[in-house]
Amino acid sequence: MRYWLVMPAAGSGQRFRAAQPKQYAALEGRTVIEWALAPFLADPRCAQVVVALAPEDRGWAEVAPRCRATRAAGDEATSAPPVSVVTGGAQRSLSVRSALASLAGRAGEADWVLVHDAARPCLDAHDLERLLERSGAHALGGLLAVPAADTLKRAQDCGNAPGLLEVAQTLDRSGLWRALTPQMFRYGRLCTALDVAHAAGRFPSDEAQALEWLGEHPLLIEGAASNLKVTTADDLWLAAAVLRSRHDGNAGVAP
Ligand code: C5P
Repeated sequence: MRYWLVMPAAGSGQRFRAAQPKQYAALEGRTVIEWALAPFLADPRCAQVVVALAPEDRGWAEVAPRCRATRAAGDEATSAPPVSVVTGGAQRSLSVRSALASLAGRAGEADWVLVHDAARPCLDAHDLERLLERSGAHALGGLLAVPAADTLKRAQDCGNAPGLLEVAQTLDRSGLWRALTPQMFRYGRLCTALDVAHAAGRFPSDEAQALEWLGEHPLLIEGAASNLKVTTADDLWLAAAVLRSRHDGNAGVAP
């Protein structure tokens, strides 16, 4: 199987509260985005990587040479995918669409595209294999996801204490899943789904949602909760612990 990898990395990461966007935060000797890219740079089935960057991006110039070095260092040097960049948009789905547009003429309608957040540095190699195997055997495709484990509350403003939140309602968590990335769909169908959404002024928060809006039902593939998205500075501690435990245990994604 061959696939294309799109990596949206154009977010400003406002909740991260740092000088650099979260994808360029230091993590176990690399940056977050380098860890996010690593499984794909090492995969000979990946035909090309397209990274969507913010117009004002200042981090990629430092990361790009290290990605090239990663490619050259491995035994897979000859088959490692090339990496190109595009300018992303104001919404994640616009960034993804812009990366997909750069593949026009090369990616076929039925080709598989994986979309993986630059802010997810802990994708496990086994989860990637499961996604490729299960989605690849499905007509539409699917996504990695985790069943909701905690009790879920809907919040509302606290009437008599401005600035505080209170519980409005406890949700029934049975059947609720947290969507992760990578998400894997056919090139043509994904482009159409995003175009239809954008033409209606709607911006899906992930690729699956765009397809759901067309009435489709993407496959849910259970992945590891350790495939976390770095959102706040605290998440970096967790991500570092995950990567260290894999390295120490010699399992998961090889550094
Ligand atoms: O903001 P959030 O954590 O949902 O972002 C998920 C991913 O989408 C990140 O890798 C981020 O860089 C990317 N993104 C993007 N373009 C945007 C907003 C977010 O590529 N306009």
